[in-house]
Amino acid sequence: MSELTSEGVILSVGAFYNSHQTNEYLFICPHCSRINGLSRYASLHEFVGEMFKDELCGGWWVVSEVAAPSIESIGQLCNEFSKKYKRLYLNGEG
Ligand SMILES: [Zn+2]
Repeated sequence: MSELTSEGVILSVGAFYNSHQTNEYLFICPHCSRINGLSRYASLHEFVGEMFKDELCGGWWVVSEVAAPSIESIGQLCNEFSKKYKRLYLNGEG
């Protein structure tokens, strides 16, 4: 059993990066902490409350009521990503 996933639990995602390059809202999966994308076929607020399954880890997530394109760059997204990874592996230390 993996410690890094929380299958069966629906976790919310609130911070997205609006990527014009890939035409997706990029975010960090709250289950496996990998960068993932939500196709930008609608505006972000229209996704609020919708549930999705991360194809990579099988974890379910929901678009938070406070969802916003609050991540301003790929660099910031990667920072968030590495912070989360650190937290997972070092259990809050570092
Ligand atoms: Zn995942």
